[in-house]
Amino acid sequence: MAIRLYTSPVLPTEGFVHGFPERGGGVSTGARASLNLGKRWGDSVDNVEENRRLLAVHAGYEPSALQATRHVHGTAVWAVGEPLEADAEFDGLVCDRPGPALGAFAADCVPILFADPVARVIGAAHAGWRGTVNGVATNVITRMTELGANPERIRVALGPSIGPCCFEVGPEVVDQFRAVLGEVPGLVVQGAIKDHLDLRVALRTMLERAGVTSDAIDDRPPCTKCEPDRFFSYRRDGKDGGVHMAFIAMR
Ligand SMILES: [Zn+2]
Repeated sequence: MAIRLYTSPVLPTEGFVHGFPERGGGVSTGARASLNLGKRWGDSVDNVEENRRLLAVHAGYEPSALQATRHVHGTAVWAVGEPLEADAEFDGLVCDRPGPALGAFAADCVPILFADPVARVIGAAHAGWRGTVNGVATNVITRMTELGANPERIRVALGPSIGPCCFEVGPEVVDQFRAVLGEVPGLVVQGAIKDHLDLRVALRTMLERAGVTSDAIDDRPPCTKCEPDRFFSYRRDGKDGGVHMAFIAMR
């Protein structure tokens, strides 16, 4: 089975490469079959390294160009070129030079890819509900702007992630989002038992408030929990399952 990439029409293609890989085309087995790109949940390091190499070859970047940081549901953003300690914890990455491939890991959380095609600045982020409500996406926009990007030109793609169809949350989570965002249509959907949160609505709202234009945001990716044949899902499979890694690079 070949590697399949979900790609977004809002991101630039000329001089840029990006993708949100589906789960097929790798060497991991069982519930991690097969393109598991995360090392933290117990898959063999050899499998993960081989999967990362296969992905790089398929996507067209050097395997050694991958820049990946440990995600902790935080909001810190690292710029390629800044000193990086081993196991440093960043949920966002930005870059203003050709070559490096920024990686953003997720399994239900939202992987986000950013690009300003004029300034040639890219970004990537991992946004679960904590990172989202605390502003990781806005922080990436801010750091890209420091590198010369303009929010009005930045394109943003939200990747496959848990959709409002499946994302049940407790009232304490809903309260945090309402405290930050106010009442936003579609943010909270009443489910059969609990409320469902739409992280895409939250992220779109925050990105637009940071100056990104409405039509530059792709916020309709597939739901990871609904499609077991295509995607890993933490809420469905727990830590026995695999992890996706979105990537973006400039040539
Ligand atoms: Zn779903």
